[in-house]
Amino acid sequence: ESQSEELQAQAEELQQQTEELQEQNLELEAQREQVESSSRLKSEFLSNMSHELRTPLNSILALSRVLIMRVPGKLDAEEINYLGIVERNGKQLLALINDILDLSKIEAGKMDVACREVSLLSILSVIVEGQEIIADKKGISIEMEAPDDLPPIETDEIKLHHALINIIGNAVKFTDKGKVEISVTHDSQNAYIRITDSGIGIPEESIDSIFDEFRQVDGSSSREYEGTGLGLAIARKMIKVLGGSIHVESELDVGSVFTVSLPLFCGKELSTSESRNPHYSESKSSAITDQRILLVEDNEVSIIQVKMVLESEGFL
Ligand code: ADP
Repeated sequence: ESQSEELQAQAEELQQQTEELQEQNLELEAQREQVESSSRLKSEFLSNMSHELRTPLNSILALSRVLIMRVPGKLDAEEINYLGIVERNGKQLLALINDILDLSKIEAGKMDVACREVSLLSILSVIVEGQEIIADKKGISIEMEAPDDLPPIETDEIKLHHALINIIGNAVKFTDKGKVEISVTHDSQNAYIRITDSGIGIPEESIDSIFDEFRQVDGSSSREYEGTGLGLAIARKMIKVLGGSIHVESELDVGSVFTVSLPLFCGKELSTSESRNPHYSESKSSAITDQRILLVEDNEVSIIQVKMVLESEGFL
C-alpha cells in the first residue's frame, strides 16, 4: 500500500511537471510569435519610412539640380557652392535610405535576382574608375589583376556591383598609405575576387561583427572615417542571395583581405528579355521635337523637372 501511495505521489508529481512543461512550451511559442511579428513589423516600418523619406528627398535633389543648371550668371560662386552642398548631402542621405530599404527588402525575402551573363571585369573596371578619383586624392593606388580567359558569369549585375563597390570602397576608405589590390581567379564553379588593402586592419575580436548591421570597429561619434555601418551587412546579404560568400582576413595596422566567392552560374533560369533590356530604355527622336506635348502629372516637382528637360530638348 505504501509503495502504491509513493507511486501515486510520483505520478502526480510527473503530471504536475508535464503541465508545467506544457505551460512553458506555450509561453515559448507565444514569445517566438512575438519576436517574429516584431521583426516583420520592423522590416515593414523601415520599408515604409524609407519610401516616405525618399519621395521628398528626391524633390529636394531634383530642385537643387534644376537650380544648379539654371543659375550660372545669376548667383555668385559661393551661392552655387551652397547648392552643390545641398545636392551632395541629399545624395548621401538618399544612398543611406536606399541601403536601409535594400536591407529590409532582403530581410523580408523580397529581393528578386535577375540573372544574366555579365563581364566581371567590366563591373570591376567601372568600380575602380570611380574609386581611383578618391584613391588619387589620398595618394594611394589601385591595382587590378585578372586572367585573360576569365569567362562571363551568370549573375545579377546590379547586386554584384553593389556588394563589390561596398567592399572596394571600404578598402580605399580605410587605407591611407600603400595600395589596394584586386585580383580575380576562377575554377570550374566559382570566381574568386580578392580585395587586399594595406590599411588600418581590423582587430581580431571585431572580425565577426563587422558584417552586422550598423556595426563599426570605431562606432564613436569622434571616429575618423565616415560611414553608416551598413555597407558590409548589405554586401554579405547580396552575395548570399547570389549564392556566394565573403571571407575576411585582417591584421591590425597591416591590412585586410576580403575574398568574395561567387558561383559562375546563377542556379536560376537566365533572365527573360525583360531584364536584358532595361524597361526605361530611352529612345531619342528628333523628328517630334516641334510637337506640343500634353503631360499629366500630379507631382509638382516632377512637373518642373520634366518641363525643364523637355524645354531643353526643344519642345514647346
Ligand atoms: P562603414 O559604413 O562604417 O564602412 P561597413 O559595414 O562597410 O560600414 O563596415 C563596417 C566596419 O568594418 C567599418 O566601420 C570598419 O570598422 C570595418 N572595415 C570594413 N572594411 C574594412 C577595411 N578594408 N579595413 C579596415 N576596416 C574595415
